[in-house]
Parts: sequence; C-alpha cells; structure tokens
Amino acid sequence: MTIETAPLHSELNQPWNFWQLRGISVDEAEWVTAMAAAMSCLKGLPVASTADPRQIATDVLTEAQFGSQHFRLSWDKRLYYLGRPILRRFASSSFRRHYRAHQAKACPLSWPVEDRYIRFLLATVGHLMQQCGLSRLEYAPFWPAGNRFALVLTHDVDTHRGRDFVREVVALEEQYGFRSSFNFVPELYSVDHRLLGELRERGFEVGVHGLKHDGHDFFSRAVFERRAKRVNHYLREWESAGFRAPFTHRNPVWMQELQIDYDSSFPDTDPYEPIAGGSMTIWPFFLGRFLELPYTLMMEHTMMLILRERTPRLWLQKMDFIRQHGGMALLNAHPDNLRIGANLSIYEAFLAEAARLPGRWNALPREVARWWRARSAGNAAFADGESEGIRGASQLVRDDAGVRLVDASPIAQ
Ligand SMILES: [Zn+2]
Repeated sequence: MTIETAPLHSELNQPWNFWQLRGISVDEAEWVTAMAAAMSCLKGLPVASTADPRQIATDVLTEAQFGSQHFRLSWDKRLYYLGRPILRRFASSSFRRHYRAHQAKACPLSWPVEDRYIRFLLATVGHLMQQCGLSRLEYAPFWPAGNRFALVLTHDVDTHRGRDFVREVVALEEQYGFRSSFNFVPELYSVDHRLLGELRERGFEVGVHGLKHDGHDFFSRAVFERRAKRVNHYLREWESAGFRAPFTHRNPVWMQELQIDYDSSFPDTDPYEPIAGGSMTIWPFFLGRFLELPYTLMMEHTMMLILRERTPRLWLQKMDFIRQHGGMALLNAHPDNLRIGANLSIYEAFLAEAARLPGRWNALPREVARWWRARSAGNAAFADGESEGIRGASQLVRDDAGVRLVDASPIAQ
C-alpha cells in the first residue's frame, strides 16, 4: 500500500457487498478464492501485483495503485495555476491541449471505456457460479424501481457568465423531463440566494465547486485544511450535500475534512484532466466518510473543445456501455461552455436521445448517494420507497461467453 489507504478502506466496497447475491451463501474465503481467480482481468495495471485480493477494491477505487505521488501537483502544474490569471487569455487552452495530449499517452488506463475492474467484478461472480454449478443468479438491483441504469446530470459553474446561463440550461432540461445539479464557486462571483432557492424549488440540486476556482486548493495539506473550513461553511449555508473540486484536483485522504455526503471529483477514467487516472468503476463507492459518485461521461470540454466533436455520439456510446452493465452515467457539463456556439444544441441532442432510453433512472446526485447507502446496508427494497419490491435487472446469467446482466423487462415510462 503506497498511500495511507487505511482510513479510506471500506468493507462496503468489497465484491460481496457490491453484488449482494441472493439465494446462495458464500463465505469470505470462497469470495477471496474467486477474486484471486479473476485477477487476470486486471492485467497491465499496477494493482495486478497486489498480494491480498481483499486490497484490490481499495487500491483500485482510491487510485492508490498509482503510487504515493499520484495526487501531488507537480511544480510545472503549480506554476501554471499561479500564472493562470495572466495565461488564461492567451495560452491557456493551447497549453492545456498540448499538456493533455502529452499525459494522455502516459496514463495507464484505457479511455473512454476502461472495463478491467468491471470485468474483474463479473469474473469473480462467474467463478462463484461455476463452483456452485449455477447458470443464473440473483443480486440486489443496482437501481430502484427496476431501472437498468442511472443517469446523473451535473454542472460546474466556473464563472459569472456560466452562472448567468444556468436558467437556460434548466429550461432545456425541464423540456426533456430531466433534473440536474449545479455546483457553484462560493468566493469567485456573487451567488444569488434567489437563484439557489429557485433551483431547489424546481427540483434541482445545489452543490459547492471548490472555493475560489484558482487551482490552489490542493497546493498543500495546510492550504486544503484552511480552505475546507470555508467550503464547509458554504455547504451548510447552501444546504448542499455534495462537492466537486475545480480541475478535478483531488486527494481522498485530505478530502475527509469536507462535511459532505458525496463527492464527484473522481473520474472512472480520464487521461485529459490535470491528474490523469481514475477509479475504474461505473458505480458509486465509499471513500472514507463520504460516497464518491465518479463522473463516467467525458467532460464536454474534452469532447467539444479538444476532440472537436459536433454530435453527442461519444456520450451516447459510453452511456450504452454503462447501460449494458447497469452502471451510472454521470455527466459534468459546464454552462460556461454550453453557452458558446452550437454547444447547447449538442447537449440538447444528447438529452433528446437519453430521454428515449428505457430503464433510465434520472436522479439527483444526493438521491443516488442516499439510494446507494441504503442498498449497501441491505435495505434496497426499503430505499426503493415504492413498496412494490424489487423488479427486473437483478439477474446474472453465465454461459460460454461469460457472465452478463440480463436485460430488464421493458419498463413503462
Ligand atoms: Zn470548474
């Protein structure tokens, strides 16, 4: 173990708690044997050399497998953030494009789909099914009301220009029947309490996006702790449950200072952000005292500005992969960029397609966090709140091709 993962370790992330199999009783030793047999799925990753399979979930999810320097901001990155106010106007986007292309090559994760940990989880159950001679097996559904996957829309509001565009994004999402969360920066531009109240009234959510959005939050533990106090103040004032760090800077140990129910600063895989890497999972997981809801669809600036895509096809392809595996499609789209050119129409095309997909649970991040906690506590039926019991999407099938989730029966929308 190369970073202090002990405070981050949670038994709730272990494969047996993740799957919550029904109808068979498997003890921990049998799980560990199955996990050891499934480790070949993790080939090519630092975690593949882990001696104790019980450490795999923690080493993968916390990114500990990438070593003790993984979350450290190098001096060139710090200089970049120190000079950013001057650079922004001239060199920022080309610097980022250059830098991102460079580090994308060095990132050990696949992108935009990184399926090795997902295959490890499936193969682990496959080995158990094989041992028990089973071709079908039930597990606690990942999502409530028989839904096949979760769709979570979030927005980081980086400047006053993005703030002034929030209502347009809200109106567009309402038109397609969606709700989302908006993360505001407390000490950069004025945040109007009427806007926050209006968002909540319309069924949207408000979260905190760093403190000043200057890239300095993670310069040192002392800086982070000082700033975390201010962030906690705004979390209380705004009645927010969630946080996302600017630039997806992150350090799961330091972040334990935040009084949050969930964070959403970790990707499943993202070679294009300043800290290239990811948690390799398309489901929520426990990260110390809070839940992590990893963003699993690429950022709109990666898709629209770096890759220069003019349609939402890359989002839709990834969402299809996530739907097949019963995961959580979580998008962060910045109003600051959506307001530019045709970007909003690309986002609208995505919403229109997503609205047509059956079996989607469009939930606010705080609702997803609440559900996942209840499911992990074995209260999935209770948390469902519909008292109709668990329907659909809760079976695994094993055949010659391996193990897969069976398609949910069509769900009335
Ligand atoms: Zn931001």
